[in-house]
Amino acid sequence: MEKQNLSQIKLLPEEVASKIAAGEVIERPASVLKELLENSLDAGALKTQIEIEGAGKRLIRVVDNGCGMSPENCRLAFAQHATSKIEGLEDLENLATYGFRGEALFSIAAISEIQLSSCLQKSPEGFKISLKGGKVLKEQKAPPVSGTLIEVRNLFFNTPARAKFLKSDSSEKAQILRVLEEAALSHPEQHFALRMDGKETLNLSPQSNRDFPSRMERLREILGEETTRTLTTASVQRTDIRLTVFLSRPDALASSRNLQYFFVNERPVVNRTLQQALYRSYEDSRPSHKHPVCVLFLNIPPSQFDVNVHPQKKEIRFRSEHELFDFIQNTLRKELSKSKQAPSLAAHSWVKIPDPREPYRILHPQPDTYLVREDTIPYEAQGPSWYIPPFTYLGQIEKTYLAYESQGGLLILDQHAAQERILFERYLEQFKNGGPKVQRLMIPIQVDLGPSQVQRVLTWKEELKNYGFDMDAFGKSSILIHALPALFDLGPADLKEMLERLSESLGSPAPEESRRESIASMACKKAVKAHDRLSQEEAVHLIEELKNCKDSFACPHGRPTLLKLTREELAHRFKRPGPPPL
Ligand code: ADP
Ligand code: MG
Repeated sequence: MEKQNLSQIKLLPEEVASKIAAGEVIERPASVLKELLENSLDAGALKTQIEIEGAGKRLIRVVDNGCGMSPENCRLAFAQHATSKIEGLEDLENLATYGFRGEALFSIAAISEIQLSSCLQKSPEGFKISLKGGKVLKEQKAPPVSGTLIEVRNLFFNTPARAKFLKSDSSEKAQILRVLEEAALSHPEQHFALRMDGKETLNLSPQSNRDFPSRMERLREILGEETTRTLTTASVQRTDIRLTVFLSRPDALASSRNLQYFFVNERPVVNRTLQQALYRSYEDSRPSHKHPVCVLFLNIPPSQFDVNVHPQKKEIRFRSEHELFDFIQNTLRKELSKSKQAPSLAAHSWVKIPDPREPYRILHPQPDTYLVREDTIPYEAQGPSWYIPPFTYLGQIEKTYLAYESQGGLLILDQHAAQERILFERYLEQFKNGGPKVQRLMIPIQVDLGPSQVQRVLTWKEELKNYGFDMDAFGKSSILIHALPALFDLGPADLKEMLERLSESLGSPAPEESRRESIASMACKKAVKAHDRLSQEEAVHLIEELKNCKDSFACPHGRPTLLKLTREELAHRFKRPGPPPL
């Protein structure tokens, strides 16, 4: 590469500098909504109406009934570092507002077309101002409607490089929803309404205040009745720290990490200390693919943390991190150990993993499993190394494992893991050959997900069709499944788990292929239960199907599908000099 000439330092033109600055604050449409909502909340609004078109790229409109602005402030609001919220750095020690840098409106204006119309309460006249790419186009009088209306159109119209980094509309919409959920969870006393592409998407009624029952009610509106019912709660006050938390009981964990919300002084934050304290408190009881639902509110003196460490004010830094970690973890642990109940039925679908050091234990006396049956499977030459026919089917152990004799040794299949593997490969095969076979349901299955998950899942509706699912909203809180991949015969509870996981994997930046695999693996996870009784015919069939799999040794989650004890090993374990002659 040619060496750059660094000898001449030039000042960037203002237009370039403002676009660069804007890039730090405004990453995507959801960042615009976040800033506008924060401004409305800072302005003391009690009602906020939001309208989104084209996943926020075409239009983001926020109307609030807050304090409004004078004409002079409407103009000033768009200047860089123009804020009414702090005067000096020392004010950050007592910060009580979301905003403080005065750069959000400046940044948004630099990269979009804006119309702002605002009116102070009781003022006889409002004011309206339009800008494009940061330049004022027009100023005029407006009707005296107190509050503020702000419309942001054609975001990134003059920064095409940034526009290219946006994800699919579904993904951008999901992030917009997340921003609204965060604002709504931390402000139960506020009325929020959201329309997306002309359709009412959320309408969250205002609660009486921010007390416990009000928070609980707002939680129900966002997470849905069913999920909220699985939560346990704690509220602790220690000198100047208050912690209020809603979190999953250990026996009712969710399948996705999506439903975790952390707030510090009502500000949504991403923070490792909080996250780790949460996960640590579940340490012994959490299977690795399960995650707690958590809505955590921490209120501490503003001087105890720094919000000025991230351009979008998402991350924060605590002054006494360790102390806080211990405090939170101890509180959560205490609450969780109180709430531990007898394992729920769902826990039974986790299949026991046989201890590989003692494989013969599995055959512990269960008289009828010793019955030797004479059916053998016709010999076929090809197959994986474990496949040495003929096999004699011995029977089912704990309705979970299938035992076969093979060449004087013992072959044990985990019926669930084996069937998972088979279905997984079959689904992917169908995918390659023109899409999965779809089963249309005469009676649609209703799945209760809660309003925000419903929205999140529905943003992927079109993509989900490619995976064999057809669904629609049913009321605000449920989804109706009209069609499923024919291979996956799932009930409402499994579908709920699957949709939760789906909304997470679809939101991830993984390539389509790996997403497809993750869908296949989660979908077939529940397709066959460990405790189903299998007929002899089915057991014989299973071994043949498993043999044809590309990877017959493990299920899609990596658990072994089979275990083999050769005749030599049997002899060795019974301390015989050698295996009996065949
Ligand atoms: P900050 O929020 O950091 O002060 P912004 O660029 O977001 O900076 O907003 C600049 C100023 O415009 C705010 O300080 C506030 O005085 C005013 N403002 C913005 N939005 C509203 C609104 N919805 N209602 C009333 N005032 C607003
Ligand atoms: Mg602001």
